[in-house]
Amino acid sequence: MDKKYILLGKTVAELEKFMLDNAQTKYRAKQVYNRLYLKSVGDIDSMTDLPLATREMLKEKAQICSAVIKDKQISKDGTIKYLFENQDGTYSEAVLMRFDNRANLTACISTQVGCPMGCSFCATAKLGFIRNLSYEEIVQQIYLIQADTGLKVTNIVFMGQGEPLLNFDNLIKSIKIFREHFQVGARRITVSTCGLIPEINKLAELDFQSTLAISLHAPNQKKREEIMPVSKKYDFENLIKCLKKYADKTGRRVTVEYVLMKDINDSVNDAKELAIAIAKLKSNVNLIIYNENEKSHYKKPLKESIQKFKYILEASGKKVTIRLERGADIDAACGQLSAKFNK
Ligand code: SAH
Repeated sequence: MDKKYILLGKTVAELEKFMLDNAQTKYRAKQVYNRLYLKSVGDIDSMTDLPLATREMLKEKAQICSAVIKDKQISKDGTIKYLFENQDGTYSEAVLMRFDNRANLTACISTQVGCPMGCSFCATAKLGFIRNLSYEEIVQQIYLIQADTGLKVTNIVFMGQGEPLLNFDNLIKSIKIFREHFQVGARRITVSTCGLIPEINKLAELDFQSTLAISLHAPNQKKREEIMPVSKKYDFENLIKCLKKYADKTGRRVTVEYVLMKDINDSVNDAKELAIAIAKLKSNVNLIIYNENEKSHYKKPLKESIQKFKYILEASGKKVTIRLERGADIDAACGQLSAKFNK
């Protein structure tokens, strides 16, 4: 069977060409465009402002997405975890989070199936690397969530499965589509990386306007390379240097992410050392409380060490937030995405 034309991810010009090639008008292309990006709909039949014949043509020649929602789990706290089945039978995951008292709807999306980075504490790492997602597959995650909930996603974080900077071109292309077509502002998009120096330099060259978050997780090279193999290739000191350059070039503060793990990186000394290491880096700190999982021996920190850690960083002049844990009961929290179906 011939592969159908995937509508999502296409520009108006591309849709116009497709529609003209199929005996339709430019006006119809514009209608399809609006249906795709301004009002995500579940299927072609729901594009009711199109004449029946146009919808029939579309159903024959095209499809909105290549992936489908395979499963959906809803947490006690309202977080929804989606499992998508891609055309090749692999599975991707995304998580939708709502916070009380905030109008924001934040989606956490994936850029790869599995991940090659091998961080010792992360469940996704256990899957190994399967493949990069295409930009269409990245964009579809937001579309399918919006079509499913009928709600507009306002914030996007690239913190699902995979290392976004290893899928650089598709990452950049998907961000362009989110900004231009889905109308999500650059400032409402965050890309999290484990610290690939050449790619961070590339982002700096692009004058990247979204937020860059760095999974630092340790206060020095010795501790970092024990839990994050990437640090053997791109060491701590050079990473901090590269981030300083990035912040100067883009004028944007980076977010330092730090997963607190009991007796690994949560001591008073760790906090002091971290404060010194990032003192000259324009940054905010986001502390993440370790999410325990059955595949790992790491433990959550004690409440007392979390508070001390936060206090020491604040006293050094940093703005510190503690990431609210979402969806842990459905394995949707940070570091828990492992699409158990992937073989
Ligand atoms: N590869 C990118 C994107 C993943 S973001 C990166 O490393 O930044 C997911 C975040 O959750 C990362 O900061 C990751 O280090 C963190 N994480 C992984 N396992 C975790 C766990 N069990 N508990 C809390 N955070 C975890």
